[in-house]
Amino acid sequence: MEKLALSEQIEFRNVTKLYGQVIAVRSLSLTVGRGEFLTILGPSGSGKTTTLMLLAGFEAPTEGDIRIAGKSVASVPSYRRDQGVVFQSYALFPHLTVRRNLEFPLEMRGIRSAERAARAERILSRVHLDGLGDRMPSQLSGGQQQRVALARALIADPPILLLDEPLGALDRNLREQMQGEIKGLHKEFGITTVCVTHDQEEALTLSDRIVVMNAGRIEQTDTPEALYDRPVSRFVANFLGDANILDDPSFAVESDTPQPDGTVAMIRPERIRISAPGATKSADADQRQHVAGTVTDMIYAGPLRRYHVAVGDNDVVIREHVAAGRQIFQIGDTIQLDWLRSDIRFVTT
Ligand code: ADP
Ligand code: MG
Repeated sequence: MEKLALSEQIEFRNVTKLYGQVIAVRSLSLTVGRGEFLTILGPSGSGKTTTLMLLAGFEAPTEGDIRIAGKSVASVPSYRRDQGVVFQSYALFPHLTVRRNLEFPLEMRGIRSAERAARAERILSRVHLDGLGDRMPSQLSGGQQQRVALARALIADPPILLLDEPLGALDRNLREQMQGEIKGLHKEFGITTVCVTHDQEEALTLSDRIVVMNAGRIEQTDTPEALYDRPVSRFVANFLGDANILDDPSFAVESDTPQPDGTVAMIRPERIRISAPGATKSADADQRQHVAGTVTDMIYAGPLRRYHVAVGDNDVVIREHVAAGRQIFQIGDTIQLDWLRSDIRFVTT
């Protein structure tokens, strides 16, 4: 794990949450630094929303403690936690105009009317919705509604922002645009943000650090780069991107480091080169493992060509940029593969 340079603002201490017999979150310990953008990433049912609900104060831990700015919030109700919240299920008030929706958190804090109106105008403009204050939420597109929800979460300048699958309902283009928007707002407000998503691309794009959850537990917490480059487990390797697991016991993987017990070798598709048998070896050939394989599948995917190659009993995926003059291999071809021994990772099974 990377060392946290920021002072810590949120701390989970051994938090467990049970719903009857279901263990939704299991002895979770985690810190979030001031100003950090932390994303909780995991498949459906892994405990992401529960973790956020605990932080927001909508649920209470069965065991353990949550601290904000060094103080336990066990007895602090959600409306006093001073957090901006954008939950999937926490939509805009349908019977209030956009402006009234935005002013609501300020009203709750007893801020007077003129100041509320001024702040609503300012934040509307900041999320590019000038002039739409008098609309009802139903008169806005999905993307615009999401912008209003984000603006409402930010309007009272809370020190913490919580987002649960904030872009889940949007189509791809709009989602990418909103990711840029969220990133910009995070930078501008310097607000400590905890975001929940099952979308790996979203997590990689937005986050300073990512927590990967699986069945109520943290699998790994790291920067996006470190998670992709040095996943600790097979689960993390597979959840973030494509992973080639080389677990055919009859196939000897060469590596610079000894293989720890209870692990399998893994290599990312883009770390593997392919060539015709007998092709000239590169200058760094002595640092590489060279093996033969048989093409079992080839797929065009836009700018990439994706091969499946049988290497012993391992199914190896390789992605190649489609480039002029590159030899195209066909199903059944015998080819040569090579990779740097230093690109082999060992992940727990
Ligand atoms: P995620 O957000 O990662 O999809 P959740 O935190 O919503 O996961 O759920 C984690 C687990 O807890 C799941 O098994 C889910 O069915 C269960 N769970 C969540 N909320 C409740 C609840 N209110 N009552 C009972 N079980 C729940
Ligand atoms: Mg959820």
